[in-house]
Amino acid sequence: MALIVHKYGGTSMGSVERIKNVARRVAKWHAAGHQIIVVPSAMSGETNRLLGLAREISPNPDPRELDTIASTGEQVSIGLLAIALKEAGLDAVSYTGWQVPVKTNSAFTKARIESIDDAKIRADLDWCRVVVVAGFQGVDDKGNITTLGRGGSDTSAVAIAAVLQADECLIYTDVDGIYTTDPRVVEEARRLDRITFEEMLEMASLGSKVLQIRSVEFAGKYRVRTRVLSSLTDPAMNLDEEMHSGTLITFEEDSDMEASVISGIAFSRDEAKITVTRVPDKPGIAYQILGPVADANIDVDMIIQNQSIDGFTDFTFTVPRGDYQRALGILQNGVKVHIGATNVIGDPKVSKVSVVGVGMRSHVGIASKMFRTLSEEGINIQMISTSEIKISVLIDEKYMELAVRALHKVFELEQA
Ligand code: ADP
Ligand code: ASP
Ligand code: MG
Repeated sequence: MALIVHKYGGTSMGSVERIKNVARRVAKWHAAGHQIIVVPSAMSGETNRLLGLAREISPNPDPRELDTIASTGEQVSIGLLAIALKEAGLDAVSYTGWQVPVKTNSAFTKARIESIDDAKIRADLDWCRVVVVAGFQGVDDKGNITTLGRGGSDTSAVAIAAVLQADECLIYTDVDGIYTTDPRVVEEARRLDRITFEEMLEMASLGSKVLQIRSVEFAGKYRVRTRVLSSLTDPAMNLDEEMHSGTLITFEEDSDMEASVISGIAFSRDEAKITVTRVPDKPGIAYQILGPVADANIDVDMIIQNQSIDGFTDFTFTVPRGDYQRALGILQNGVKVHIGATNVIGDPKVSKVSVVGVGMRSHVGIASKMFRTLSEEGINIQMISTSEIKISVLIDEKYMELAVRALHKVFELEQA
């Protein structure tokens, strides 16, 4: 008997028929003697619909209230799934985040999980119940409902698996695993049987939305065995076959396979670039520019500061496109005058494309191959950033898909 966490995303929960299929699949696992905790997302489109309603009332809604609204999507899902499980002959119980409780900090719309009380869940499992816990949501120490950021049900599932020391966390979704890049953009993308935790962390942080980055961080920190697989297969599929399908996230030292040089290509469409021109090149400038941006809870990603020639330099960085106007406003009102910069300019139509692979550590020439490929396609590179296992470039958004396809081809990712 194993303890398994199943997570089902929006498409997998997208209709009453699909929810019944989830119940059939869970019943199959339960019948094989496993203890099952299920973490569903809201039905597809529901979170967008709910947040859209709020934005029809206010262009700048209170984040606390947004979380109160957005969390209802998952609340509907858990109730429906528990009913479907009971119809399938199982004993099941649903819990919202605050009933468990899943305790988080108070950063509304992007809260972090701080602790999870496992008492109720364990007691129910002991009674042979299937426990259905709402993804994406928690509660802060003042009793406010919080949500974990878009795609946060992945994080709920892996965190619950970590706390309960589950044998495996199965992330059921609308693709049959992790691909070399988003299969919706590159048809030739190839499914990987395994990906190292480090590579998955880079892919997720660089914009590959198949898993929320924090779920990968939890998986790494607590060594949760995590697999991404399809929920759209026949729920009656042979259990052993299902157990070995999809993509397993491995920890490098466990993995005996020869690492490929490049495992995948990630991209993030919605980036924006801001440049503060002619700032005095002296200690404290980076802090004076980026400090107020960080104080406004805006994530800064790529940063470059040019070498100064006459005591002045240009300072460029990227932020998520949704935060562009806010970041620009902060710098134009105040910071510019305060630090004596000439101007603050920006471009909200840029995208980031990254090649990722642990094999890069022991191979040279990856960057030059990447840059040559982009130059042959006539794509201008605006910024570059690297780590041991990734190279990212910032380019005009209109070339993003072209860049991803060209790089997928030149690194021969379609071939095993
Ligand atoms: P869910 O609703 O199940 O959480 P998501 O939409 O969040 O599903 O994630 C699955 C989607 O991630 C896929 O439909 C696919 O388009 C996208 N995706 C992006 N990059 C990749 C990748 N490298 N491999 C697989 N899917 C990817
Ligand atoms: N329903 C939430 C969202 O759409 C959480 C999730 O699906 O993981 O972002
Ligand atoms: Mg998701």
